[in-house]
This record gives sequence, structure tokens and C-alpha cells, in this order.
Amino acid sequence: MRKERVTENVYVFTSEAYAQVTAGAIVTHEGTVVVDTLPFPRETREMIDFLRAESKRGIRYVINTHHHADHVYGNYLFEEADVISGERCREVMRKSGEKNLAEAKAQTPELAEVTLRLPNLVFPEKLTIHLGDRVLRLMPLAGHTPDGIGVYVEGDKILFAGDSVMPLPYIFWGDRAMLQETLRAIKEMNLENIVQGHGEVLLKGELDETLDASIAYLDTIYDKVKAKIATRTSKERLVNEIPLEACGYSPIALDGLVKQLHRSNLLRIYQTLTAKAR
Ligand SMILES: [Zn+2]
Repeated sequence: MRKERVTENVYVFTSEAYAQVTAGAIVTHEGTVVVDTLPFPRETREMIDFLRAESKRGIRYVINTHHHADHVYGNYLFEEADVISGERCREVMRKSGEKNLAEAKAQTPELAEVTLRLPNLVFPEKLTIHLGDRVLRLMPLAGHTPDGIGVYVEGDKILFAGDSVMPLPYIFWGDRAMLQETLRAIKEMNLENIVQGHGEVLLKGELDETLDASIAYLDTIYDKVKAKIATRTSKERLVNEIPLEACGYSPIALDGLVKQLHRSNLLRIYQTLTAKAR
């Protein structure tokens, strides 16, 4: 796990074990707020050890940005904290969490000890947390998944964006147009930094360019898949005939994982378009 200090009291922890997934923390004089909890207990414990030493008031709240395993499996290790999420996130975790965890355990021995811990504080649309001298604004950021939320740190102007911002936009479980709307809204926020759900922290100077590229990519893949469907290209061929490089992105980010994300994105758009046509 890699630890990075973004501002005086804001930290980002990046997994070295799984897809550069991130977690974060805002340390205040009344205690700490954690954003997402990493998938593997070993790295989550490292983060907890660091944070417990950082504040005598302990960890008060854990926020889940969405229900995906790599952002919530560490929840159970934060025994002293309340876990906060949007209503939809808790609902999805309640319905499918145990089944998914059992499947994940069968594949990944490192998860053997993990128990599912659901959020115990939920909110419908927005929530503001006042803790110490900090104000955190939680807001919907849908698109990657329908239940996505972001955490805006007032003052520092940092947004923990969850997977609504990634080195490649990822919509396999989500909605392309909704994510574009979210990315446009983020662009209007006049931020200093974005903590992506995976990969490097984005700096002020690169925000507009990065968000514009993501929005354009989502248009490009839509147009390209639509054109391939018009010429009756099969799903299997289409995925090979629209390489990531042809959509404005390098295939090396996230240790090459972006190539897989791209293929899933293409399949998602194919499914959406062919379902509509039927
Ligand atoms: Zn993720």
C-alpha cells in the first residue's frame, strides 16, 4: 500500500495488491473520516494502524463511495466507526453482498477472514458532515454504478470521486450518458484535486483535460460501436476492431488493466444498443 499526503490532513492510500484502488482519510481534531476501505485485510490494517496513531480521537466515520468489493470489503475492520453510504449502496450490498463475497473468497484466499459489514447510516441524496473544523459534502455521482457518491472536502477543494473518475471511464455496470453528466458536473466544481477510485491523485492543472478526455471517450466508443452494429459486425469481432488506442487512450494505465475495462465498456454499449433495437 502506498500512502500519500494530499494536504496537511488529507491522505490517500493506494493498493499495491489490487488495481491501484484507493482509500482516503480526512483527519480532524475530533477524529477521522475514512473514504472507502480497500479489499484486502492486510492493506486495510496498515491504513488503520497509521490513522489510529495520527488522531487520538480515533476513526469516527467510514464512507463507502459505492458497493463494489474493492471499496467496501475492509469495512468490518473499522469496529469503532459508523459506516455511511447512500441508500442504494446499502440496498445492493444487502441483496447481493453475501453471495458475491462467498464467490470472491472461493477465488481469493486473502479474503478468507472478511465479513460483510453493511453501512449503518444511509442518506437518500445528499449529506453534510461537520467534524472538527472540517465540512464534508456527500453527493450523488452516478454513472459508473447507479449508487455512486462523491465526498467533497470543503476548504481544500478535494473531491473523493470514487469510480466516477478513473484512468479510463468504466461503465460496465453503469450508464454512459449518466456518467458523462456526472463528469460535466465535476468539471464545474472548481477543484484543486480529484482522488480517483483507482490510480493517481489528479492535480488542478490536469483536471479539465482529463475530464474532457473521459467525456469524449464515452462519445467515441458509442459512435464506433454503433457504426459496427450498422455493418452487422459480431460482438466478438467488434471488441477486437475497436482498440483502446483508437479511442484516444494509452493501454498502459493501471498496469494494463484498462484494456480489459475498455472491452467491457464496448460490450456494455453493444448490449444497450442491441436491446433497444429489439
Ligand atoms: Zn473500483
